[in-house]
Amino acid sequence: MAPSILLLPGDGIGPEVMNEVRRVLDWYARTRGLEFDIDEDFVGGASIDVHGVPVTDAVVTKAKAADAVLLGACGGPRWDDLPFEQKPERGLLRLRKELGLFANLRPALVFDALVDASSLKPNLVTGLDIMIVRELTGGVYFGEPRGISELGNGQRRGINTQVYDTHEIVRIGRVAFELAQKRGKKLCSVEKANVMESGVLWREEMNLLAEDYPDVELSHMYADNCAMQLVRQPKQFDVIVTDNLFGDLLSDCAAMLTGSLGMLPSASLGESDAYGGRKALYEPVHGSAPDIAGRGHANPLAMLLSLAMMLRYSFDEPAEAALLEGAIERVLSAGKRTRDLMAPDCTEVSTSEMGEAITVELAAAQ
Ligand code: NAD
Repeated sequence: MAPSILLLPGDGIGPEVMNEVRRVLDWYARTRGLEFDIDEDFVGGASIDVHGVPVTDAVVTKAKAADAVLLGACGGPRWDDLPFEQKPERGLLRLRKELGLFANLRPALVFDALVDASSLKPNLVTGLDIMIVRELTGGVYFGEPRGISELGNGQRRGINTQVYDTHEIVRIGRVAFELAQKRGKKLCSVEKANVMESGVLWREEMNLLAEDYPDVELSHMYADNCAMQLVRQPKQFDVIVTDNLFGDLLSDCAAMLTGSLGMLPSASLGESDAYGGRKALYEPVHGSAPDIAGRGHANPLAMLLSLAMMLRYSFDEPAEAALLEGAIERVLSAGKRTRDLMAPDCTEVSTSEMGEAITVELAAAQ
């Protein structure tokens, strides 16, 4: 039986960039014999319009049954006035929660052709390839107690609690060590053990885990120093593992080293099951870009790079993933660009022309 994929195009430019995923998946099926059982459904505003809710129970059930989920983007001005719980983005949050997606993988990869799009000097970012692994379901965003209380003397107190249990640190640590094994075999664990007990525990557990991965070189760094090092000498890193709060900040910082929102993929992974498979959701980092939706200006490459991550991490097809990434690199080097990446001497192409150029390049590389 072919592995199953659920496509959730969502809103705004989501359906436009998902069309290019379909085009590339079709090419893989026809040309490489890489067949998937593909289903598609609504999420976000598209689901609100049809079903009145940002995601239905039926879609959650389908997502849980699928081997991987690919999501476009959710949200847009049409639904902005809805109450918080009914907003399109709640659909994605519910999916992440119900699939137990605790590990967020955000690569920061600089293609040679786009070196000038970075805010850093070319020599600092040429060849940059970092993976940030962020813990996604614990830490200060979820810890109890939380809230705002009256102190009775005219003062109020806002409380959030940073809390991590051993099993949460160990499971994210294992994802990061295993990724490092498949990459440059260097892992930097980031916390603030100098001022936070949760950081001390994090560091101790990572040191214990390191004994299971003797081929990976583990180092530790305080989060404030890591932020500084990311803009000072980013190529010193291979894989970074960190908690929810620090990961939120550091992954955005690392992402911008690459210069464009339209180029950033991501993966969110859950626990492994007894057969070694994991629940997984792949999506571009960007949103639904309502300002350009429907005009053919959307850059589909973040979505296609998310597809490459899916091939590598859910289906253990590193060669097929590399084939797609290589095609993207060559199309960019040939000067074909969507509007967001336009530079002198380049040719502007539409979303579908970019997808077409990628399949032509895939065919040429075979
Ligand atoms: P956005 O990422 O949608 O857009 C920010 C800017 O980047 C816009 O100018 C947009 O045109 C541009 N851009 C984004 N992706 C692009 C692409 N692939 N190609 C070319 N240009 C691109 O962020 P926003 O404007 O803050 O949010 C718009 C909507 O998307 C909101 O409703 C927000 O809640 C939602 N959103 C959803 C997700 C998600 O589904 N994961 C993530 C972020 C924002």
